[in-house]
Amino acid sequence: MHRLLTRQTRIFQARTTSTMSNFDYDFVVIGGGSGGMAAAKEAARLGAKVALFDFVKPTVHGTKWGLGGTCVNVGCVPKKIMHYSGILGAGLHDAAHLGWQLPEKVEHNWETLVETVQAHVKKLNFSYRVGLRSNKVQYINALARFEDPHTLSYQIKNGPTQTLTAAHILIATGGRPTVPKEIPGVGEYAITSDDLFSLTTAPGKTLVVGGSYIALECAGFLNELHYPTTVAVRSILLRGFDRQVAAKIQDIMVAQGMDFRFNTLPTSIVKDDATGQLHVSFANSETNETFTEVFDTVLYAVGRTADTFNIGLEKVGVKALPNGKFETVNEATNVPHIHAVGDVLQGKPELTPVAIRAGEHLVRRLFKPNYTKTMNYDLIPTTVFTPVEYGTIGLSEEEAIARYGKDDVVVYPWEFQTLEWGAVHRQKAESAQEGDYDTEFPANCLSKLVCQKSANEKVLGFHFVGPNAGEVTQGFAVAVTMGATKEDFDNVIGIHPTDAESFMALTVTKESGASWVATGGCG
Ligand code: FAD
Repeated sequence: MHRLLTRQTRIFQARTTSTMSNFDYDFVVIGGGSGGMAAAKEAARLGAKVALFDFVKPTVHGTKWGLGGTCVNVGCVPKKIMHYSGILGAGLHDAAHLGWQLPEKVEHNWETLVETVQAHVKKLNFSYRVGLRSNKVQYINALARFEDPHTLSYQIKNGPTQTLTAAHILIATGGRPTVPKEIPGVGEYAITSDDLFSLTTAPGKTLVVGGSYIALECAGFLNELHYPTTVAVRSILLRGFDRQVAAKIQDIMVAQGMDFRFNTLPTSIVKDDATGQLHVSFANSETNETFTEVFDTVLYAVGRTADTFNIGLEKVGVKALPNGKFETVNEATNVPHIHAVGDVLQGKPELTPVAIRAGEHLVRRLFKPNYTKTMNYDLIPTTVFTPVEYGTIGLSEEEAIARYGKDDVVVYPWEFQTLEWGAVHRQKAESAQEGDYDTEFPANCLSKLVCQKSANEKVLGFHFVGPNAGEVTQGFAVAVTMGATKEDFDNVIGIHPTDAESFMALTVTKESGASWVATGGCG
């Protein structure tokens, strides 16, 4: 065995040595975001000679940021801190009921929030630089472009154009928010998530355009921070997610005071130079009604576009789809030594841990002898960080029915109020729209298992709406990934009093017609 391993290691070393003599680098990464950074560091740890390009093209408003890509600078990290700030604001109501004596008027200071967020982001930017240096990855702060299949060109600041060669090249350029510039004023005046987390002045009355998870997360924390927020949506919220859950999220956000305008999109934005405010004209596609409303900030979150349009793909024959993404097999493009990971992949979840894991597997297959593991893109857990979070693993009810048929799918939902929220009588926001419930907050939790009848009620889909759904869902992801059945859930003793214990006691099925809304009490 030992002899075999030694021989394989020698073959591998011979391969990398010859690679190194032919090219400047064994592995070059274009894009220092989640996928690119992880792949570059892992390749270097495995003994490859590695360089990484990262450069941020500023937004139309001049916003730019440091090393680390979307997640660290303008995505997961700043978003989560702002989400937390929103949660603290909503918790002030509870605090007063739990004995904290607060001043009559508690105000939020946007500048302080942005300062804290940006200080943390800069700390992470620095740690990423250190991480590259300590792993001996050559960091090049420039835009890279293909010149030929093994050559990239780049220019540092206004210096001369330089080139380098690499045996393997990884495209990890991620994506940028899509801005429909054909709508007058949008290209000039609307901001995106790329600008929001470093806005130097408070957003004020804000219009968020889009029903994506990013739209709802941003709208959610802005509303919780007491900036009046309207969400204009072309059709539905959270497309691709479970519909019952999407309706629940909508219900909760309405109770929190969110103003949703469905079938409604801006047709133009005009800036009033005297006040700086934005006059937004809208059209409703159902009623054909048009109207104008004034906002301080308009944020577009209608999707993201892969950032691959100006990197010289045509020079090397790498095929991209019209949306700029790549169809890959095990992260290889149609040119075998040119690879891709992260948000530039077609049909794969656009999530940080997905980009990281795919990048790590890829470089281990390239540079670690005998490594054959491939990325499994199924059953990826994820969470939407709306003020009340939504965590999910696997299939929505609709996807399960489409795949296995209605008769083979059984759904166990349960709606209830978090104990602590019930105790402090969380109220609907004063600005909440009229609904069919009273002033008390609607049940803020929904636990739901979607199971396959003919497979011993194997759990196909796990869905949880409730506080800390991200933390809850990460734990359950192990069980669901291992193929847990409904009975496996039933066999576990709950931890009392938690929201997550509801998954150990799901008894009502949707098809039974019985109510799945709790009436209170423990057990
Ligand atoms: P990116 O992280 O986008 O990095 C690409 C890098 O390449 C960028 O720095 C870019 O400037 C650079 N680049 C582009 N072209 C070139 C070039 N030619 N030369 C040099 N450099 C170049 N995911 C989660 O898992 N959880 C979350 O909670 C979450 N929240 C999000 C919230 C928001 C608001 C957004 C926008 C995204 C969020 N995401 C979240 C998604 C996550 O950020 C992305 O999936 C992840 O960052 C993708 O990583 P990547 O490596 O593909 O690209």
